[in-house]
Amino acid sequence: MPTQLCDSLWRASSPAAPVLTALEGRLEVDVVIVGGGFTGLSAALHMAKLGMSVAVVEAQEVGFGGSGRNVGLANAGLWLEPNQLDASIGAEAGSVLYNALAAAPEYVYGLIDEYGIQCEATRNGTLHAGVGKAGLAQLERRYEQLTLRGAPVQLLDAAEAQSRIGSDKFNSALFDPRAGTIQPLAYARGLAEAALKEGAKLFEFSPVDKIEPTSGGWAIYTTSGEVHAEKVILATNAYSEYGVKEQARKFVPIFYSQLASKPLSDAQLASILPNKEGVWDTCTVMSSFRLDQQGRLVFGGMGGEGNILSNWASQRVTELFPILSKVKWDYCWTGKIAYSEDHLPHCQQLQNGLFSVAGYSGRGIGPGTVVGAELAQWFAGQRESLSIPTTLLRDIPFRELKRMFYEVGARTYHLGQQSHALS
Ligand SMILES: Cc1cc2nc3c(=O)[nH]c(=O)nc-3n(C[C@H](O)[C@H](O)[C@H](O)COP(=O)(O)OP(=O)(O)OC[C@H]3O[C@@H](n4cnc5c(N)ncnc54)[C@H](O)[C@@H]3O)c2cc1C
Repeated sequence: MPTQLCDSLWRASSPAAPVLTALEGRLEVDVVIVGGGFTGLSAALHMAKLGMSVAVVEAQEVGFGGSGRNVGLANAGLWLEPNQLDASIGAEAGSVLYNALAAAPEYVYGLIDEYGIQCEATRNGTLHAGVGKAGLAQLERRYEQLTLRGAPVQLLDAAEAQSRIGSDKFNSALFDPRAGTIQPLAYARGLAEAALKEGAKLFEFSPVDKIEPTSGGWAIYTTSGEVHAEKVILATNAYSEYGVKEQARKFVPIFYSQLASKPLSDAQLASILPNKEGVWDTCTVMSSFRLDQQGRLVFGGMGGEGNILSNWASQRVTELFPILSKVKWDYCWTGKIAYSEDHLPHCQQLQNGLFSVAGYSGRGIGPGTVVGAELAQWFAGQRESLSIPTTLLRDIPFRELKRMFYEVGARTYHLGQQSHALS
């Protein structure tokens, strides 16, 4: 059963990670970053490039968090519709953030090229696939708002969406040619290599368990070492519960699991996503699917891994793609998404020189990379502010209950879909 295959395709298919050691002894740098995901690694890479001395201290391995576990859709923008973004933070700030993140895939693929990162980079666009009347209405709204802002998106009708996806279960799709797919863990490892090349210091298996103010700024401590710096960035996002627990209370952690099939046959590949776009749907309990470079179907849904999810995934894949009946899964893994109350990432200055960046709400490849670069420019005095909000977040009330609500909701939905199909 797939539930026993608790291993990630991305770990199995990623080029080797750079060899890093644990933090030992005392180190002094300009900036120390806690967490080696897209945010921390991009910040380190760009800070080192701008001449700052910088160290990343990662509890596990580079890419251990959401960065190494995600779907790999390198999308433009955020989850929020552009008008919702403006309503949330104001039209001026909304436009700055929209423009920064509209260009995020360009930035990500540019870095991949610049540093020769081997991460299955495929820039054939993504498809937001419409399900039902509400799904179509959502895509029509997004299309209108995005085209008004100059985005080169296309709203595909049912016939075009169905032939691009290879399934008759969708009534529309919003195609975004700016976007694409990557192998996310390979991208994280590639960013780590690039940061090392630029002179950043990286440490793994070094959980930070104490952060203290000092006369010159801050010190972070692990069991075997300490780093003193003027500034600290907590880049731990949904994985904040370890050592920086108070940040975890600002977000609801939502589980999202994926399964990867055996490589598909040539006939299957000719009809399923022949152009290799990445796809996610408009359902409230969302699913995603894409192909990897070996022709595996990577299918994901909300909720923790387990029999309910894997049984639902097998059945849903058969419904979507009858040519794939009796799909066999080789891999199954789960990641945690940090949902903020306003669905936006925030950079909070918790105290002078102590920053926390988190709350990507499931859209972090482009945003994490761009925010890392902006942090470097901001610290170097090259920009006055960041594109993302810098407001302090409050603790989310009933956070654990909300987490359970989403988890139970996802399971009930998946069970309901199965029994509906069986009846
Ligand atoms: C299943 C899933 C699917 C997703 N799909 C997409 C997608 O298709 N497209 C997209 O754009 N985004 C997607 N996202 C979101 C995206 O992956 C995240 O927003 C992004 O990875 C966040 O990067 P980060 O560097 O901020 O945090 P992370 O990558 O989570 O890194 C945080 C790191 O901090 C480390 N850490 C925690 N505590 C400590 C400590 N005390 N000391 C040292 N280190 C510590 C952790 O070990 C971890 O490695 C998805 C997320 C998930 C979970």
